[in-house]
Amino acid sequence: MLRFDIITIFPDMFGPVFNESILKRAQEKKKISLHVHDLRDYTDDKKHRKVDDRPFGGGPGMLMMPQPLFDAVKAIKGSRKAKVIYTSPAGKPFSQFCAKGLTKDKNLIIICGHYEGIDERVRKLLVDEEISVGDYVLTGGEIPAMLIVDAVTRLIPGVLGKEESLVHESFEGNLLEGPQYTRPANFRGIKVPDVLLSGNHKTIEMWRESESLAKTKKVRPDMLAKKGRSLK
Ligand code: SAM
Repeated sequence: MLRFDIITIFPDMFGPVFNESILKRAQEKKKISLHVHDLRDYTDDKKHRKVDDRPFGGGPGMLMMPQPLFDAVKAIKGSRKAKVIYTSPAGKPFSQFCAKGLTKDKNLIIICGHYEGIDERVRKLLVDEEISVGDYVLTGGEIPAMLIVDAVTRLIPGVLGKEESLVHESFEGNLLEGPQYTRPANFRGIKVPDVLLSGNHKTIEMWRESESLAKTKKVRPDMLAKKGRSLK
């Protein structure tokens, strides 16, 4: 079982996402366990429950102080070995390859940043991996943390109903998934390609591969450069 501990100043954001659909079922199947912690419970400032302060040297906004984060991680970790992840636009880009790698861990602690980010000493002394979910800036690390939990969980064997649904997915073999159709066979004048109605599995497979290649070439030619090598 993979255990996720999330450290956040907005714990209420997680319930609706963690208690629905595949994440809910993965917990019921004991494939993962999800634990959300309010960072304010760990601050020494018991009166105001403050977790941020102004940056030395000036500048706009506030920074998360090291003390509450160090105490939170220490308390949550206990005697367990855990990888500490900090969600950050300055981290390494998150990918399917990265998600697969994280399925090998047993304990992941994810720190959700806020304000202008964290004190550098947290990065240096506490964080094992800094992960970015894209080249844009969000208001906080809560959505990135949900995204990481979701992407990692669905790759854990036994979580998805049909394991083969992972085989043709986007990013497998550095290709995007090609077009798919369901009923009706003709919708608003657009017909499902004949090959998909042929019942010939080999031809269908070949068609899917060539569509997948064509889509990748059009939308993400950069991925084709990596094709044939392991995902990076
Ligand atoms: N001043 C920071 C910078 O320029 O890198 C941005 C801080 S952002 C407003 C607040 C928090 O949101 C960050 O500490 C981080 O935890 C989270 N965050 C924002 N964008 C993110 C991204 N692309 N990937 C992961 N986390 C992100």
